[in-house]
Amino acid sequence: MDDPREALADCLRGLAETLRHHRDLGVREITLSRTPFPDPGDALREQERALQGCTRCKLCRSRTTIAFGSGSARARLMVVGEGPGEEEDKQGKPFVGRAGQLLTRMLASVGFDRERDCYIANVVKCRPERNRNPEPDEVAACNPFLMAQLDTIQPLVILALGNFAAQTLLGTREGISKLRGKTYEYRSSTLVPTFHPAFLLRNPGQEFKRMAWDDLKLARREYERLTGAAPAPASS
Ligand code: URA
Repeated sequence: MDDPREALADCLRGLAETLRHHRDLGVREITLSRTPFPDPGDALREQERALQGCTRCKLCRSRTTIAFGSGSARARLMVVGEGPGEEEDKQGKPFVGRAGQLLTRMLASVGFDRERDCYIANVVKCRPERNRNPEPDEVAACNPFLMAQLDTIQPLVILALGNFAAQTLLGTREGISKLRGKTYEYRSSTLVPTFHPAFLLRNPGQEFKRMAWDDLKLARREYERLTGAAPAPASS
């Protein structure tokens, strides 16, 4: 683009688009900063603040607390689950119940510390009653927040847990058994689908455990390839 007026017009169009996106997220004021790239931690805090008291969908009627996300704002691995369960609804943090404890162990088995190396979020941030699947209007209402988290973290690898997260992100109806075991390009990340830890708790057989372990090793290999990180210490 040689014409500087055209370049400026292009820039302003981009700015207008970003401001519209923030307005849709509920942001009512913006702080002008001298740093062109705001700190990702600040960006996430701002997004979480914008979500407080959210009434964009009917999940607000039964939730106790919004579970926005947790972990490191500088993580290169982002883990995406379905939606908060009972314990997450109480504590306002994703994956802190039984499935969360298993997730922590699964991540650690391939060398990831959940607080240091991962950022964890769900497709919907409020608990669906009796842990039913989130409905399309609820997913749509929460989607700008998940996208904002992804835009902020810019993960190199995404671990999508279970049917719901994998299908929502990949825009497919294919089941997790078919989707898992492979990598997918998703925006600028590599997405690795695997079984949800809650499913593994309900189905304690070796077969699913072994497949999940293979998926975790796949995610680790992609992570090492894309970040140049050292291989994880051997685990069993
Ligand atoms: N299941 C999920 O998908 N997310 C949580 O945060 C907890 C359980």
